[in-house]
Amino acid sequence: MPPALTLRSIHDPLIDSGDGNLHVARGLGDPLPAHLAFVTSLKPSVSEEPTMNRRRRVYEGKAKILYEGPEPGTLVQHFKDDATAFNNKKHDRIEGKGVLNNRISEYLFQKLGEVGVPTHFIKRLNMREQLIREVEIIPLEVVVRNVAAGSLSTRLGLDEGTTLPRSIVEFYYKNDKLGDPMVTEEHITAFGWATPQEIDDIMSLALRVNDFLSGLFLGVGIRLVDFKCEFGRLWENETMRIVLADEISPDCSRLWDIETQNKLDKDRFRRDMGGLVEAYQEVARRLGLHVDSPARARTGPVLVRSK
Ligand code: C5P
Repeated sequence: MPPALTLRSIHDPLIDSGDGNLHVARGLGDPLPAHLAFVTSLKPSVSEEPTMNRRRRVYEGKAKILYEGPEPGTLVQHFKDDATAFNNKKHDRIEGKGVLNNRISEYLFQKLGEVGVPTHFIKRLNMREQLIREVEIIPLEVVVRNVAAGSLSTRLGLDEGTTLPRSIVEFYYKNDKLGDPMVTEEHITAFGWATPQEIDDIMSLALRVNDFLSGLFLGVGIRLVDFKCEFGRLWENETMRIVLADEISPDCSRLWDIETQNKLDKDRFRRDMGGLVEAYQEVARRLGLHVDSPARARTGPVLVRSK
């Protein structure tokens, strides 16, 4: 049983190295605490080596890295600029993407938290990182669809843009080697990935997230076509509850401008349309978010000319 979260001050054990990042003050050779063992079990290739900036990396995915957090029961989620598609067959680095996703996901998780959706999010730490609660990730990608697009259009021969008779929830088994195959509740319960009660909780949370985000995006002239989300088990003392985890950003959703039908999401990368960062910036702008340009932030002080 992981220890209960006792977050005193997130600044306590962190060292600010002056590069805009906070670093956990921990010995380089310290063994990984037992409560983080499940995280490493997610992916055998995960590096447990301390990083150059003295933090222990406990998981690395395609677009994010998880570092050990400053307190037991916490992790630092770092958003990379890497863009991947088609199960990693297409790969690129798009400068500024990670910063935008960090900010947009922070905003959406905060808003969801305010309407009572339990999430792993605690706070944003810097341009690329947020502090999150450590959860036991359920190995499912939960996709909610409002409009036919992408793989649903291909699978069922539906024109992209066809409004669905109702929102549809789909489950995919998180497994890169298998290409994240679609699965049913039968597979999920038979293989023990989640219990029937957990599936009910996941379905109802996913639909609540969809209702809330559809309205939020509609308010800024964006259609929430579909999105992928992930859930985890959060242990608090003897009790466990299902919470929204991972991220929600233009990387894992389809966001179309209501008037022009312009795509403001990762399909711009998947379909070689270009303008990905500009599209994500537009989403952030409409949500009223100020996102510093990472390029500008790196240049240091700017000389202000006097007249
Ligand atoms: O490709 P597909 O149409 O099934 O994608 C549905 C939604 O799930 C899209 O918003 C896509 O961005 C997201 N997705 C994701 N990660 C995956 C697969 C899909 O974020 N591995």
